[in-house]
Formats: sequence, C-alpha cells, structure tokens
Amino acid sequence: MQNFRKLKKIAEGAFGIVYKAEDLLTKQIVAIKKIKHEKNEGIPATAFREMDLLQELKHPNIICLIDILIYKGTLNLVLEYIPMDLKKYMDSMTPDTYIDKELVRRYLYQITSATHYCHRNHILHRDLKPQNILIDQNGTIKVADFGLGRSISPRSRVYTHEVVTLWYRAPEILLGSPYYAFSVDIWSVGCIFAEMSTRKPLFRGDSEIDQLFHIFRILKTPTEDIWPGVTSLPDYKATFPCWSSYTLREQLKNINELGIDLLQKMLIYDPFHRFTARDILNHPYFDDLSSTTSE
Ligand code: AMP
Repeated sequence: MQNFRKLKKIAEGAFGIVYKAEDLLTKQIVAIKKIKHEKNEGIPATAFREMDLLQELKHPNIICLIDILIYKGTLNLVLEYIPMDLKKYMDSMTPDTYIDKELVRRYLYQITSATHYCHRNHILHRDLKPQNILIDQNGTIKVADFGLGRSISPRSRVYTHEVVTLWYRAPEILLGSPYYAFSVDIWSVGCIFAEMSTRKPLFRGDSEIDQLFHIFRILKTPTEDIWPGVTSLPDYKATFPCWSSYTLREQLKNINELGIDLLQKMLIYDPFHRFTARDILNHPYFDDLSSTTSE
C-alpha cells in the first residue's frame, strides 16, 4: 500500500470503502476497494468471491482487477478507475431530458455483452443495477461489483434469496422459486433498459410484496396461462390482487418500437421463456450496431 497515494474517498458502504488513488510507481490512477471486516472475523466470503470472479473475467465491458493487496490483515482490490456510473450519470441530467436514444442502445449492448460473457462462463452477477454499471470517459461500459456473483453449472440450483437489489429483482426470486438461474440477470438488465429510457426506476417497491405488486400493476398479475407453474411457487397467494392490463408501453419514453419489443421479451415472467443474453444481442434493435461496439 506504500506504493499508493490515496486521493479521495469515492464511496463507503457495508462492503467497505472505495478510494481513488495514484500508483506512485506507474502514476496510474486506480480505485482501491478496501474490504471491511470485523476483528477476529476474517475477510468476508463476498470479497473472496469478487476477487475470484474478477481474476477469471476478462472482458472489455467488465471492470479490470489490476492487483490484490493484503495490508495489515485487510484485503484491498486495486481496480481500474472509472469516474462515472450510470446512476450518477442519470442523476446529473437536467429534469425532463433523456439519455440520447443511440446512447441507450450502445449502453444496453455493452451491458448485455458483459452479461453474455459472464453467463457463457457460468457466472451469475446477481446485483446488476445502475450503480454497478460504470462508464469511462470514452462511453465504454464497465460492469462492476461482483460481490454477489457466483459460479454455477448449467443445471445447478441456486437457493439463496437475499440477492439482487429489490427494484431489479426478478419475480421468480420474489415468489420464492426453489431455484433460479441466468434469467435473473436478464430481468435486471431489462429494468435498467427501461430506466435508461425514462430516467426513473420501472418497478419501485419498498418491500418484497410491494415490489411484486409494482410489477403486477404494469405486466398484469401472472396466471398459469402466461407463466405455467406460477401458482405453485412458495410465496404465490391466490389472494393476490388481479391486475389485468399490460401497460409496459405506457411507462416508456424515448424508445422505438424495436426497443419496446425487445424489452417486452426481457421482462417475460416465465424464466424459461425470457430472452437470454444471446437472444438480446441478436435482436433487430441492435442491427447495424454490432460492428461498431465492442463485445
Ligand atoms: P461497489 O461495491 O463495487 O459497487 O462500489 C461502490 C461504489 O464505488 C460504486 O457505486 C462506484 O460509485 C464506486 N466504484 C466502485 N468501483 C469503482 C471503480 N473501479 N472506479 C471508480 N469508482 C468505483
């Protein structure tokens, strides 16, 4: 750590602290994520996960792990420094303005490329949200924060339900599905896509049940017809209110017909029918883009 000069604190949370710092040898500006842990408790499992996954994942749209330093019993991840994230970017815009349509398309393509690369390598991110989507000075997306990520085999079952920030959490997790897979990341990317178009989170619940009802109000309360097996999920209740109109289109702004078609397929209730990352990249919404954007 003596080789680094801390410049400023960028963020602080349950995970620890992120600093902007200068590497005194190379003069490179980096971000140092110092993982917090209680005395006697050791380094948290999430930090090991993030470290393992970032060592494995090398992609132009995924944050680059430069080094790992253990200093006075603390784990520090040295990352490439990216000054902006998608949430800060949207918050910095003046009211009643929207992200340029073309930029939304480019950002979505890059977020999906990173997601596709993770899924191809059997890795779930499980916490995709605007705060974790960093944007560099060239407009290149860098997906960050793999603290909740995990590696799964194609047929393995994941049971943990305390994942994914509420607003971006897929309905199968909210309904207590006994297992879930890559489709949970696609739901989150769909929510981010809608939010880029309007600058407002699409489903803004303040509890798990409120989150489900926000989804049902816009996408209709799911039935066995549209999502076979839904009524057997552990947290499904026959007493759920029945919203019967699908109003997704009315929630959106600044998005063309192809974009609406794509978003509808990313927000399909049934996880087995929801688009995959590959399906998204191949959708006509991105025609003429793939040759100009890094995958
Ligand atoms: P994280 O726990 O990785 O989501 O980091 C928390 C916050 O720190 C993010 O929302 C960013 O604002 C900031 N941050 C994380 N990684 C970097 C980075 N490589 N460069 C600049 N800021 C970062």
